[in-house]
Amino acid sequence: MMRTAYCGRLTAANVGESVRLAGWVNRRRDLGKITFVDLRDRTGLVQLLFRSDDANLRDAHTLNREDVIAVRGTVARRSGSNINPEMPTGEIEVHVDELQILNRSKTPPFLIEGDGSDTTEDTRLRYRYVDLRRERVQKALELRHRTFQATRSFFAERGFLEIDTPFLTKSTPEGARDFLVPSRMHLGSFYALPQSPQLFKQLFMVGGVDRYFQVVKCFRDEDLRADRQPEFTQLDLEIAFPSGTDEIYELLEGAVARVFHEVLGVKLDLPFPRITHADAMARFGIDKPDMRFGVEILDISSHVRGSGFRVFSEAVQSGGRVAGILAKGCSHYSRAALDKLQALAVGAGAKGLVWLKVDEGVASPIAKNLTEKELHDIVSAFGAAPGDLILLLAGTGIEKPLGELRLAVAREESLAEDAWRFLWVTDFPLFELDEEGHLTSAHHMFTSPHEDEIERMEADPLHVGSNAYDLVLNGTELGSGSIRIHSRALQERIFRLVGISEEDARQRFGWFLEALDYGAPPHGGFALGIDRLVMLMAHEQSLRDVIAFPKTANGMCPLTEAPMPAAAKQLEELGIEVTRRP
Ligand code: ASP
Repeated sequence: MMRTAYCGRLTAANVGESVRLAGWVNRRRDLGKITFVDLRDRTGLVQLLFRSDDANLRDAHTLNREDVIAVRGTVARRSGSNINPEMPTGEIEVHVDELQILNRSKTPPFLIEGDGSDTTEDTRLRYRYVDLRRERVQKALELRHRTFQATRSFFAERGFLEIDTPFLTKSTPEGARDFLVPSRMHLGSFYALPQSPQLFKQLFMVGGVDRYFQVVKCFRDEDLRADRQPEFTQLDLEIAFPSGTDEIYELLEGAVARVFHEVLGVKLDLPFPRITHADAMARFGIDKPDMRFGVEILDISSHVRGSGFRVFSEAVQSGGRVAGILAKGCSHYSRAALDKLQALAVGAGAKGLVWLKVDEGVASPIAKNLTEKELHDIVSAFGAAPGDLILLLAGTGIEKPLGELRLAVAREESLAEDAWRFLWVTDFPLFELDEEGHLTSAHHMFTSPHEDEIERMEADPLHVGSNAYDLVLNGTELGSGSIRIHSRALQERIFRLVGISEEDARQRFGWFLEALDYGAPPHGGFALGIDRLVMLMAHEQSLRDVIAFPKTANGMCPLTEAPMPAAAKQLEELGIEVTRRP
């Protein structure tokens, strides 16, 4: 047997035992007559001792970082001054009797025990197999594994079947571009990689598989932002005959609570609070509020409707509003700091920022435009005290900039408590306008509208609510879902509304529409981004830190150098000619 124990698991309880260990040389220290080697495997480090009378000492002297060795030796207690309380195995060492050098390593491109600051992320990803040896990465991958395991047992215990769905398929629109795969057997035709298993899971419901889940890769070709990956992993699920959205909320809450308990030993408070989308926007200016701090948006329109200060009164009278946030203890903000907040608000769509510093009196560039009473009303509406700062915006579309101001102040003042604040955001609008002003589904096209609002879908589409919901953790969207449409006629109306012609609908979704004709039951589901959940649980900043082989922010894999131009022969077989290169 090459090994009988793991390095990092040896303790004083093993003193006197003969063990075989195998792993990588973390570090060697020669002290004249003796040599120490720190040996590493996935559980951690243990100190090996080679003594001067040892036949292995010559070989031990040749060991370098990352050489692969196996040893046989005896666990011994370290002598007093050698005890290292910093090291989990610091009370013991292994006195080596036999050393076997299994393989040599080139000098690694970076330190394994370091924090990564001696290298760049590109280099770490280029040599990911070396990087994987780092404790922090190992921990993240183990956490990921345990999250998968806990999730799977939770759903399996509740009668869900884990069934996989095809990757070579037809487009499943989730708002991104498709990755296309050319077909050799059908020249000029393409499969699309699924943006999600959405339509297949709905077909499971039609097919009588009434509780489905899957831990599944999804593929979305979008311009990558810092926290996106072109392929990512979802916990995907669907149930038939849901007793409303509550059943889905409860399932997810149970699953997340189980994961947090099993993986982190954290007990979450259930149920998670809920807020409608409209309330989230009004109170927090964002559809994924971070609930680790307050700083809620307050509407003061009623106080300034008749104000002589026309910026305020005209905003209210022309259908907008005046609202703001209270930055407690921030009246000391400098001109430069306020200018930065102003730039942030304007960048997010506000016309300008009005600030009021509350101290002995109220200092503000607009103080002279408001009456004493108006100033007093505003200050008391916010409950502001000396030392506080009030930030106000006026007009329409001020929710988003207010939301950004709120986040900026919270960041600046470190207001977020150290906690796990989950939140359901419910009743999203059914539609929104895309960048070109076209009506588009806010979630996806298979989401059902509020029953009592279906009637006015054509007349007033932007004011129809939907049975769509998001799960949010500490200001990050973890996942979304909805109760689906199970009537063909309604599904066709939605297609029409988002500008998909009948012909187009038949071509793209005919196969799916047909299924709705064969006894589709009511159904609904959810998908949770596992990478993101694991990232938050591991206190990492980037999805790349919790994915074994991630892509960089520009969609490249530094390790394999994918994507690559294809060989001429391959292209020829596929009937493809490349007409444009960057
Ligand atoms: N398919 C959706 C998504 O990937 C989630 C769902 O509606 O279940 O976002």
